[in-house]
Amino acid sequence: MFDNLSDKLDKALHVLKGHGQITEINVAETLKEVRRALLDADVNFKIAKEFTNTVKEKALGQNVLTTLQPGQLMVKIVKDELTQLMGGDAEDIDLTGNPSVILMSGLQGSGKTTFSGKLANFLKNKKTKKPLLVACDVYRPAAIDQLHVVGEQIGVEVYSDRENNDPVAIAQAGIAHAKSLGCNVVIIDTAGRLAVDEQMMNEIANIHKAIQPQETLFVVDSMTGQDAVNTAKAFNDVLNFDGVILTKLDGDTRGGAAISIKSVVDKPIKFIGTGEKMEAIDVFHPSRMADRILG
Ligand code: GDP
Repeated sequence: MFDNLSDKLDKALHVLKGHGQITEINVAETLKEVRRALLDADVNFKIAKEFTNTVKEKALGQNVLTTLQPGQLMVKIVKDELTQLMGGDAEDIDLTGNPSVILMSGLQGSGKTTFSGKLANFLKNKKTKKPLLVACDVYRPAAIDQLHVVGEQIGVEVYSDRENNDPVAIAQAGIAHAKSLGCNVVIIDTAGRLAVDEQMMNEIANIHKAIQPQETLFVVDSMTGQDAVNTAKAFNDVLNFDGVILTKLDGDTRGGAAISIKSVVDKPIKFIGTGEKMEAIDVFHPSRMADRILG
């Protein structure tokens, strides 16, 4: 994960490790390399610039120039800032409703259906949670089939209604069905499209308004870099969602989405997807991610 970024940051910071004492010029050169590494990882220019400015201020404030091990101190400062940039603390999803309704949003192919299954499985394994999956994609019968396959795989019931082409009505009926089954979590999978368009946005906004979910999650493919951040912005403008799910972090992702998304939409990344299997889900911990990036 983020191998290229890790290598470049390691190289940038390594230069300082050899020095007993460093100058402001050493710091400036190192931070230039750090900024270049972030830009190469597809972090947007403004964020990369602000990041290195903050690191510089902290480094000088903490007397990095006179410390005995300037390299170590710089790594720590960069790590702390990277953690802050990605959200600070890990954030839970709200499961206080009865049932708790979780609405999934995102483009087609982002990994919504797969993640809906992973989340249901994750919650089911907590023992106190009994989830129901609801299929609200009325355009692609294959999407409904896919959710049923996932549900069968993890032993979670799936509600669908192939005769109905109103996603709001299906979502509402799904919640009623969950109540009748005694399910305490309802995960609603919705239709996505290949790009942001008005019809999709209106549809998800209508579902959101009608069911007032405890948690609205935006699912995004981390491989799409800056596009991931732009799509997040478009969905957040309409839904004011509660959290981001970053999928496909097992692939050759450069890291830009993970690093930038929180500061662009000011919403936490709550989970990550790290594979196609139902078990490939992790709670997102900014500090652990920063540790991974900086080795
Ligand atoms: P949806 O259209 O948003 O519902 O997307 P899907 O759940 O159908 O996922 C699209 C493709 O991405 C499928 O082939 C999934 O197996 C794959 N996928 C989803 N999440 C991950 C992930 O975390 N890692 C990898 N490698 N593939 C994933």
